[in-house]
Amino acid sequence: MVYTDPPFTTALSVMSKQAEIEDIVGWHAHVYFDADSVDRARALCEQAALRFPELKMGRVHEKPVGPHPDWSCQLAFRAELFAQVIPWLTLNRGGLTVFIHPITGFDLIDHRDRAIWMGSVRPLKLSALPETSTVYDL
Ligand code: ZN
Repeated sequence: MVYTDPPFTTALSVMSKQAEIEDIVGWHAHVYFDADSVDRARALCEQAALRFPELKMGRVHEKPVGPHPDWSCQLAFRAELFAQVIPWLTLNRGGLTVFIHPITGFDLIDHRDRAIWMGSVRPLKLSALPETSTVYDL
């Protein structure tokens, strides 16, 4: 008997079709921080918003929100900006952890199976996510 746990089965059924790059409408980069690094994180996010005027900076949450286990600030951008924003964050994140995920319409899979991490990998609260489709403002 082959055992597969339910989340993997769900992922397989959704991912039975080959995912294509064009499925990605945009990206989120969530900058994580704590009380000691909140000022650096805020400065980093504000610099990103200045450097990339089409990028949308979310609120600086000084508490865990949604699936994020740490305090966080969201940077949202369209797929075309990936090749600029990600290298910029790579060079400028200053030791902060950044969680990056695509937006394809499948929130759970995008967060759980398609994550890119800069710095340490943190345990997301996946139960906070719907399986499909939050409409994000990009
Ligand atoms: Zn996100």
